[in-house]
Amino acid sequence: MNTSSEADLTPLPRPSAGTLLQRAARLRCPRCGEGRLFSGFVRMPETCSHCDFKYERAPGYFLGSAYINYGITALSITVLFMLARFRGGWRSEQIAIPLAVLALLLPLILFRHARAMWMALDCFFDSNVLDDEQQ
Ligand SMILES: [Zn+2]
Repeated sequence: MNTSSEADLTPLPRPSAGTLLQRAARLRCPRCGEGRLFSGFVRMPETCSHCDFKYERAPGYFLGSAYINYGITALSITVLFMLARFRGGWRSEQIAIPLAVLALLLPLILFRHARAMWMALDCFFDSNVLDDEQQ
């Protein structure tokens, strides 16, 4: 007898790296691509509303997304500084405050996508992530 709960355990095909990145860009569940990762600006449900994939695998799981966020922010600030200073001819004093403001705002703007990207990387590099959820 096949109940609906057994049907839910049917393994989904393993998503490719491109599919995982696309789902991260759309802020969707890395496993099914349907469920939303966020129910508000920063509020994240515990599981996917579509496939019950558990988003936070362990306490502190999303700490890795801070590294992604920091890397993108640091790289952006560095590139913008170089462009403004050496291409635009601006003095460092003119650039400092706008870039400091950007350095504060950019991590807030990138917060959700950094988490989504972290989950996509985790699902891609750790083959057990998606499999564990299907058991
Ligand atoms: Zn899902």
